[in-house]
Amino acid sequence: MKIAVLAGDGIGPEITGQAERILLALRSDGLKLELEPGLLGGCAVDASGEPFPEITRKLVKEADAVLLGAVGGPKYDGLPREKRPEQGLLAIRKELNLFANLRPAILYPELASVSTLKPEIVSGLDILIVRELTGDIYFGRPRGIERRDGQRVGFNTMIYTEAEISRIAHVAFQAARKRKGGLCSVDKMNVLECTQLWRDVVTETAKEYPDVNLSHMLVDNAAMQLVRNPRQFDVIVTGNMFGDILSDEASMLTGSIGMLPSASLDDQNKGLYEPIHGSAPDIAGKDMANPLATILSVAMMLRYSFAQEEAALRIEHAVRKVLAQGFRTNDIYEPGMKKVGTIEMGNAVLANL
Ligand code: NAD
Repeated sequence: MKIAVLAGDGIGPEITGQAERILLALRSDGLKLELEPGLLGGCAVDASGEPFPEITRKLVKEADAVLLGAVGGPKYDGLPREKRPEQGLLAIRKELNLFANLRPAILYPELASVSTLKPEIVSGLDILIVRELTGDIYFGRPRGIERRDGQRVGFNTMIYTEAEISRIAHVAFQAARKRKGGLCSVDKMNVLECTQLWRDVVTETAKEYPDVNLSHMLVDNAAMQLVRNPRQFDVIVTGNMFGDILSDEASMLTGSIGMLPSASLDDQNKGLYEPIHGSAPDIAGKDMANPLATILSVAMMLRYSFAQEEAALRIEHAVRKVLAQGFRTNDIYEPGMKKVGTIEMGNAVLANL
């Protein structure tokens, strides 16, 4: 298992540092893996003038999976758009054809009071959102702003092919199969033809997964149900734009951005794994960042790219134990708990592994 590690900027090196310690511990227990560092984002701009240099492109093409910290920071905000760190992120997703974005939103019972929703609504929440990442209105053409009849008109194209819908549907059905077997497909078929096709293709794909319980929901209702009764969901599958919005909404149910991992996969299950948060320049270099989202991203990597379910579960159980033992970084701290820094949190996970 060859893993490219792109630590990135801000808190990136601190959090990936802790995730690497977990991988190295699993290696000493017999897991065959290699870690190869590389530069992406602002640190790559500093070193080579490019946010996604050729050497990094080669590294990630050859790797079986990529672990990413986060990129960006105020230092780079004044650069021309094509030189900004975030462009490196878009370029790597495109280069690796990462069309399936998987974002679990899990609320550990110990953290129920950190959520902005009532503990009885969110305690035990465990949702997986599968978002299509390379199609939809974000990429459709024609697009633009032009003058028509003396005024400006803005337009975009919402477009999905049958093949694009069916490949993301397969990812979602397979994920549901590995979980509780529920899949809710979200669309807006009452208004948009494009999403009528989405519903038709998802329904046709369901014939190959008789063991999965498929339901459909309109996106406006889904947005409401996520805050009304989020535990009704197991896996949600949806297009790029609806997924963008719903996955951020779902992540906030759990209260802490520092806890949530993500995976972006291609059609061979090669993936890029990263915490959902950014480079947090306000706390960078202070040993304050929560490394758990990145450590949980490694668990996703072992599960989805390497089919190492046992190793993935070991990491997830260790994280649960650490929370039960009361270890908290600043972002999830409550009085009475043990406040720790990034490194100490890493130590605690390793001790429980
Ligand atoms: P952010 O996610 O970096 O930070 C938002 C807030 O959450 C900050 O107060 C930060 O301290 C806190 N936070 C984030 N991660 C944390 C962690 N692990 N532990 C504890 N607290 C944490 O978002 P932002 O401030 O809007 O963006 C900062 C930079 O990150 C920008 O340059 C942005 O473009 C970039 N960014 C990168 C990614 C990515 O690499 N995938 C994603 C989002 C933002």
